[in-house]
Amino acid sequence: MSSTNPVPDLEAGIQYWATQPANYDGVLGGFGTGSLPRVDSLGSRRFLLDLLPELSTVPSPFRSVSVSPSETRRIRALDVGAGVGRVTSDVLLPLVSDVVLLEPVESFINEARSRGKASESGLEINDSGYRVLWKGIADRSKSVTFFKGSLQSFDPVEPGIPLDRVGCLPQDGDDDTKSKFDVIWCQWCLGHLNDDELVQFLERSKKALRDARSLIVVKENICREQNAIFDEQDSTFTRSDLAFKNIFRDAGLKIIQEKIQHGLPEGLYPVKMYALRETSHALQ
Ligand code: SAH
Repeated sequence: MSSTNPVPDLEAGIQYWATQPANYDGVLGGFGTGSLPRVDSLGSRRFLLDLLPELSTVPSPFRSVSVSPSETRRIRALDVGAGVGRVTSDVLLPLVSDVVLLEPVESFINEARSRGKASESGLEINDSGYRVLWKGIADRSKSVTFFKGSLQSFDPVEPGIPLDRVGCLPQDGDDDTKSKFDVIWCQWCLGHLNDDELVQFLERSKKALRDARSLIVVKENICREQNAIFDEQDSTFTRSDLAFKNIFRDAGLKIIQEKIQHGLPEGLYPVKMYALRETSHALQ
């Protein structure tokens, strides 16, 4: 791509989102109240459970009754470009123990925080049709830690100082903010990065994966054109399947599962989920 072609601009992207309402409709471009949030989050949970069946909270007849300590360890996920915490609340908290949430836009992270706080106090204020109480927060069995920042500057290995945390606290004052992740979830936000920034973010994320089963999940709109389409309104790229695949390869990541999200309203870009592992670990 020649240097004269437009590329995403960090500030322009943040400015765009700051004009949008801090709710599901805002982060989903007006699709917050129809079937999309439910179809999307069920598709995401199913995708994740197929890859990591051990995250299932439903007892399996095939699993042994005696549970070893390694099976009971806390599962950690990172939700980047998290908006108002939709993926945290509807996909990740139902399946994992601790979520770290990254979002740069003030009004969005404030909304996510206040939903987390409301969950902590057990207040169900269901005025907008989505589940208000975040799973495991009122009984403090799970946690969400909030970081304000952009993907361009965030390092999942060294996340810095959190803004806040709700739910359970690390045991014995232990600091778990530098612990690695079992799942890093990137949804509808990677278009804000140019190709170099995206490769670098994925390389940093790869170093923050806990072990050989850990995953990076990318769930994004896909264009049918050769490479990418630039959208001036929010200063983003919509990339093609091939463009994503080239970027994953450059970041040293291997695709272990890819799937189209079916059931979304017509007229939208196709949405695709990719599960990625470090190339040397992609044994499955
Ligand atoms: N992933 C969420 C939100 C999608 S909306 C969901 O699926 O519900 C896109 C989000 O990306 C917004 O919250 C926006 O503020 C955030 N964003 C924009 N630029 C970003 C950047 N440079 N780094 C991280 N997040 C960014």
